[in-house]
Amino acid sequence: MRVGVPKETAAGERRVALVPETVPRLGEGVEVVVEAGAGSSAGFTDDAYREAGATVGDPWTAEIVVKVAAPSAEETGRLHSGHALIAFLQPLTDHEGVQRLSAAGVDGFALESVPRITRAQPMDALSSQATVGGYKAALIAADRLPRFFPMLMTAAGTIPPAKVLVLGAGVAGLQAIATTRRLGAVVSGFDVRPAVREQVESLGATFLDLGIQGEETEGGYARELTPEQQVEQQAELQARIPQFDAVITTAAIPGRPAPKLISADAVRAMRPGSVIVDLAAETGGNCELTQPGAEIVESGVTIVGTTNLPSTMATHASQLLSRNMASLIGLFVKDGALALDWDDEIVSGACVTRKKEKETT
Ligand code: NAD
Repeated sequence: MRVGVPKETAAGERRVALVPETVPRLGEGVEVVVEAGAGSSAGFTDDAYREAGATVGDPWTAEIVVKVAAPSAEETGRLHSGHALIAFLQPLTDHEGVQRLSAAGVDGFALESVPRITRAQPMDALSSQATVGGYKAALIAADRLPRFFPMLMTAAGTIPPAKVLVLGAGVAGLQAIATTRRLGAVVSGFDVRPAVREQVESLGATFLDLGIQGEETEGGYARELTPEQQVEQQAELQARIPQFDAVITTAAIPGRPAPKLISADAVRAMRPGSVIVDLAAETGGNCELTQPGAEIVESGVTIVGTTNLPSTMATHASQLLSRNMASLIGLFVKDGALALDWDDEIVSGACVTRKKEKETT
């Protein structure tokens, strides 16, 4: 049985779905076919794949194709009916892409749909990539701020530490809190899920009490706030945001546009030189003024809307993603052959398209 690893073609995507260290871990009878140059933007040469036991060739005929981004229409045309594809398929938003896969008879597995149960933690690519994004957002905030993060006591006097606010304390937000704390900033965090307060505090940050509490779904995600709560949240934040030097926003609701937390007026209330790093830029941004994919300065405030931060740390992001992939592939393969156990809640939960005749069995 073969696992195919195509070169990513989406603009700005530097990651690769499988790295050389994972090749020998896929078990007996599993061969890996890598497209030439697939790992080059992430720092993995074709020779490194060959040394790990892979071959360089056409990945699209493999029984399992692993990708980072969802395939384009042209790439979907190269997939084979009855074969499996694992990638970030954006099942809640990319309806056209999912339809294409369905029409092609491909068993499509979305990394976003892997159930977030304990047994699936090694396969949780949302978490591994959010960890990278949260870390990088903290570094960007430190880099763009024209101030020190840590307190400094120098011969020229004392410099107070920067004050950082992290909005949304899921996987990315908690990593941003941990990283900004390590850099010496005084950090506050906020999330609408009540359970998060303890996690924020355990990282040495203060929980910013806005007096707004949302609900948590069964899957552990936040429910969207009511329109009234959203207005209240914006107003509360506007009152408190001027005391912070940097704000990192990560708030998200699966399948929905990013909740707007920071209004244009709140940006104008910040001190010149302040920084907002909006990790939710890809889904529209948590700040009203964020321009997805761009970095702008508005009223002296730098607003970073760079998308796909994990791709900017392509080596480690790919390595983590590759380990997630290896765990999933381990579930899909029995005795060196593709054997999908539809009774397994991880297999059925992650599946977003399925070859038709299988549906009737
Ligand atoms: P996410 O990326 O969907 O959202 C990021 C955060 O934004 C969440 O914490 C959410 O509560 C918050 N948010 C939403 N609306 C907000 C608003 N208006 N204001 C402030 N914050 C807002 O979330 P995620 O990082 O993918 O994690 C979601 C949950 O899944 C967490 O509870 C996490 O612990 C859990 N999780 C469980 C497992 C597991 O058990 N295997 C693995 C990973 C994550």
